[in-house]
Amino acid sequence: MGSTTAARKEAIRHNQNELLYKGVKFSVVGSLAAAVVAMYFFGPLVASQGAAWIWFTALWLVYLARALDCYLFMRATHARQHVQHWTRRFKTGALSSAIAWSLSMWMIFPTDDMAHQVLLVLTLGGVAAGALASLPYDRSLSNIFQLLIFTSVFIRLLVEGSSFSIELALFSTFVFGFLLACGKDVGKNYIDLLRLRQDSQETNLTLIRTTEQMARLGYWQWDLNSKAVDMSTNLTLMLGFRNRKVDIKDCFALMHPDDQLKVQHACAHVMKTGVDTEIEFRTADTRSGDMRHMRQVLKLLVDSDDKTFLLGTIQDVTDVKSAEQKIYSMAYYDDLSGLANRAHFHENLDAEFALARLRHQQFAIIYVDLDDFKGVNDSYGHECGDNYLKHFSNYLTSLTERGDMAARLGGDEFCLLLRDIDNRQEAHDMALQCLEYCNQIVQVGNHRIHPRLSVGIALFPDNAQTADDLVKCADMAMYTVKQAGKHSFAFYDEKMARDNRERVRLEADLRQALDSDEFELWYQPKFDILDNTLTGVEALIRWRHPDRGMIPPDLFISTAERVGMIKEIGEWVLANASAQLKQWNDRGMRLGMAVNISGDHFVAEGFCEFVFDTLRENGLKFQDIEIEITESLSRDPEVHTRICRRLRNAGVRVAIDDFGTGYSSLSVLGQLEVDTLKVDKSFIDGIVDDPAAQLMVRSIIDLSLGLGYDVVAEGVETAEQLDFLRNNDCPYIQGYLFSRPVEAEQIPHLTTMDWSLPRAA
Ligand code: C2E
Ligand code: CA
Ligand code: CA
Repeated sequence: MGSTTAARKEAIRHNQNELLYKGVKFSVVGSLAAAVVAMYFFGPLVASQGAAWIWFTALWLVYLARALDCYLFMRATHARQHVQHWTRRFKTGALSSAIAWSLSMWMIFPTDDMAHQVLLVLTLGGVAAGALASLPYDRSLSNIFQLLIFTSVFIRLLVEGSSFSIELALFSTFVFGFLLACGKDVGKNYIDLLRLRQDSQETNLTLIRTTEQMARLGYWQWDLNSKAVDMSTNLTLMLGFRNRKVDIKDCFALMHPDDQLKVQHACAHVMKTGVDTEIEFRTADTRSGDMRHMRQVLKLLVDSDDKTFLLGTIQDVTDVKSAEQKIYSMAYYDDLSGLANRAHFHENLDAEFALARLRHQQFAIIYVDLDDFKGVNDSYGHECGDNYLKHFSNYLTSLTERGDMAARLGGDEFCLLLRDIDNRQEAHDMALQCLEYCNQIVQVGNHRIHPRLSVGIALFPDNAQTADDLVKCADMAMYTVKQAGKHSFAFYDEKMARDNRERVRLEADLRQALDSDEFELWYQPKFDILDNTLTGVEALIRWRHPDRGMIPPDLFISTAERVGMIKEIGEWVLANASAQLKQWNDRGMRLGMAVNISGDHFVAEGFCEFVFDTLRENGLKFQDIEIEITESLSRDPEVHTRICRRLRNAGVRVAIDDFGTGYSSLSVLGQLEVDTLKVDKSFIDGIVDDPAAQLMVRSIIDLSLGLGYDVVAEGVETAEQLDFLRNNDCPYIQGYLFSRPVEAEQIPHLTTMDWSLPRAA
């Protein structure tokens, strides 16, 4: 605070100096003219001519010295830094001239001439009044000036001692008293004015400086006749200079070498045309050495003296730039993998289309999907899944060295853009390179992953004419690979498009099917071949499509799973099969009912509750229902076992469908939480003449029965198969030999038939 007040005082004092020195010109001219006149009138009347000339010379010397001093002050560039010094010099000059004038009363006072005496006193009064005009910015100086002259006049008149001179002394007391009083007021007003000016200037400067700081803004002014640039305080700070006056060369030296020429051109352009120009450039921060981004507006200014300046306003836009950069990378790059994202990839693809058309080039896109990625995520956790994706992204990047582009389109789907290829073979080779990734074992955290990929390839111009279409083609080719058993690659062809259209239509129709009541349940009987009785049925779904007729479940169950409809369908099956069983029960028929449940539905929340509620609503015995599930690796075995246990604890039976095709080995047979194993048709097909199948089926039956499971042989078509099963004590069978799946109405009739007939010849 103290230092600011001192600085303010100093600034005011400096302004005072400037204004006082400005007035010197007039006082020098006026005073010298007055001296000449005085000399002309009084010189001849004075007793000693020598004294008169000495006075005259002395006065001239004093005023010439003051004029010189004034000239030096105006020239001094650092006048502001030596305020006290110049104040002292000015005071010395002013007081010397006061003394010089005072001496006139002694050296050119005409003792015998009253009129001239009055004239001299009036002249001195005029000089004192002149001080009022030339020294108003320093009240005390002006007062001392007047007092010195007055004292001299007064004493001289008293020394003269004539009655007239006494009167004159009194008169001059009035005159000078009046002048002193005026001087007091005038001086006070002037100093107030200076303070006010200083205050407003300081306020403005503070405003500007704060604004500059907040906006990271600064400005500079370059007088085109000099080499120095004058900078605002904030710009000086921003650029790390010590001084506000900087050589223009130093300014350019601070710029990034690549930007210097550009800025020079911009300056030259503004100087030549006078048109404002905006330009961006980079500078090195003199403290940290970091590159900062600056935006600059250049303007040509001409002041009232016709002097031309170049004015530059500079804003530090580094933060804005880095935010822009961040937004750009967020918008164009995938966070996890660092690869281009879908939007960025499509932009590049559009550009590639334009270029390839222009140059008649071919290019390919390769669509890559990690097989069973969901399984990795579910079994090992998302962090592990993320690391797997990163690992694969790095691999893809390593394949794109010749200017190709890799992108992550989302999830576990990636795309490569293969620019300017000569033939299909290049795309073929790249697909093989992608698949080579699977020759390694990826270690993420504590887990070892055996990667598997499905790859689809589409070519421009053969397959599509727009970016969207080409990606779709590659995607379709990839999808076809997945459908065909995964872990391979395929080029897109027309048939894929047809299949895809078909699939899309099927999906759309499937969504309608439940609401339109297009599903039906057919029932395939299950037989006890030891007793030759029909003991139960398996509910099998069919879709009666309005246009395409009856569609078997193999053609739509996997679609329903993919589009997330399988739970709804499963619940529909459970509800309808239960209602049907109740109807049969009401008619006195005792049957078991097997229902197929898809894996996703089985582990879905609320599955057990739904089963229990449905059975209770229909008043069924829990043990009359058997839930058939297939084995699957991707399912969490613990969750699986828990659900089986819950169902079984409540009395509901659980069967493993298609047993033998899944992953369970005979060694885990003992730990399964199930009631029944259904031996897959593929084994039954071989039991007549394939010794391996015979051995397998025999072992499964033996072991299962030994462990207390029921065994059902599926897909029994011939009497020979039946004989084999019967001879090996297989208790239950299902198959066309006895009955295909039939509509519900036929079941009551089938239960009354004699089933002991079919036998091998
Ligand atoms: P699955 O559960 O193994 O059912 C047996 C399939 O084999 C049935 O085909 C049946 O008609 C057929 N089949 C039975 N005996 C013979 C035979 O002697 N020879 C031959 N060649 N085939 C025989 P379907 O009804 O077409 O069902 C196919 C698969 O669709 C079923 O296999 C099951 O996995 C699934 N599925 C059927 N209904 C449903 C359902 O309601 N929900 C779910 N999630 N899946 C179902
Ligand atoms: Ca089944
Ligand atoms: Ca089966």
